[in-house]
Amino acid sequence: MLHYPILYKCKTDCCGCTSCYSICPRKAISMVEDEEGFEYPQIDESKCVCCYKCINVCPIKEH
Ligand code: SF4
Ligand code: SF4
Repeated sequence: MLHYPILYKCKTDCCGCTSCYSICPRKAISMVEDEEGFEYPQIDESKCVCCYKCINVCPIKEH
């Protein structure tokens, strides 16, 4: 079974670089502002095909 990717668990796992947003072939990721005005990626699971390109491109994830 496919699992949807988790781009960040806490905000220190994401610097808001938008690479995941840019690479997603399904345009399933949008950048959403938090209460302090920083943008974090949010996945629309209805569009996501679990290709994991977003996880692989992320500079912060350990591979
Ligand atoms: S797994 Fe693929 S389709 Fe899903 S959000 Fe990431 S890049 Fe987009
Ligand atoms: S690629 Fe990683 S660090 Fe960049 S916005 Fe996406 S989750 Fe955050």
